[in-house]
Amino acid sequence: MAAFITIDGSRGEGGGQILRSSLAISMISQRPIRVTNIRKGRSKPGLMRQHLTAVQAAAQICNARVTGDCIGSCELTFEPNAVVPGEFRFSIGTAGSTTLVLQTILPALVIASGPSTLILEGGTHNPLAPPFDFLAKSFLPLINRMGPQVAVELERHGFFPAGGGRFRVAITPTDRLQPLSLVERGEIVNRRAIALISHLSPEIARRELKVLGEKLGWTDSAWTVAEAPNSPGPGNVLFVEIETPQLTEVFTGFGERGIRAERVAERLVHDVRRYLAAEVPIGEYLADQLLLPLAMAGGGEFVTLPLSRHSTTQIELLEQLMDVKVEVHELRKDARRVVVRS
Ligand code: AMP
Repeated sequence: MAAFITIDGSRGEGGGQILRSSLAISMISQRPIRVTNIRKGRSKPGLMRQHLTAVQAAAQICNARVTGDCIGSCELTFEPNAVVPGEFRFSIGTAGSTTLVLQTILPALVIASGPSTLILEGGTHNPLAPPFDFLAKSFLPLINRMGPQVAVELERHGFFPAGGGRFRVAITPTDRLQPLSLVERGEIVNRRAIALISHLSPEIARRELKVLGEKLGWTDSAWTVAEAPNSPGPGNVLFVEIETPQLTEVFTGFGERGIRAERVAERLVHDVRRYLAAEVPIGEYLADQLLLPLAMAGGGEFVTLPLSRHSTTQIELLEQLMDVKVEVHELRKDARRVVVRS
């Protein structure tokens, strides 16, 4: 076995993303890694339930040898074997984010030797993680343009703190991801706002949509109130979807106990306005999530907002672990062109 590559998990953004991306790259490049200082700067450092599930999921799909895989662990070694696609079920056991578990294993499974089906259980709509709707409408359609076919189906919404959500994933892999170029935003083809509630009054959703409508100047024909059927706990999420010729961006506001519905909507308005004003195709979250697939494709480019810390940390990691260079050009004060080259 080759020597371990050491990755300092505390550098840059210093959260779970470095761990997930390191595991993904270890599997696709078949190189053993040691991740140190995992989530050192966070209030509860080390592996939490969701991260541990991501490690276990990764280990399971490639029969990896792992050390340090326990709750609170700040150091981990991971020695992958060949990825074996198949049928898997990963249950977090808390409301931890299922979409982030998927983010860990999807890169390896989209280029695996055969199809896979997954069942993921836990949270599906978590603050600070991609909500299921973003995955389904925004991220995966772009991944599918790169060659594989990934289909997802939500069976039950899971909100913090009750969790209990579940979704299915069917993956038909490709030999190699194809590069993607997303540099023009184009005209807005469609726009929608959806206020989702579970075990809460629909009045909350209506108040949120009223603020969105007023501030964005949208008529109520573009609004929908949706109830999450059979989710075990309460939850409220507000989405704005902006469809342009190349893609759909999904912006999300999370309702929180003690935060007024109007405030949830105002925060979301801020994110949507910033994106619309910059006239870029790719928003902040898609940017950090597209970098690894583009690196796997050996190239690609997109135009986005000024880069988040997640994106700059991801770029550093990709340049350390994969044979790529990432250039960031300032086009305007609020627009960057990101070019990935091998
Ligand atoms: P970390 O904070 O290191 O666990 O990483 C969080 C990940 O979730 C990053 O890849 C973010 O792009 C993603 N993320 C966070 N919030 C959202 C959101 N509202 N929509 C889509 N993706 C998100």
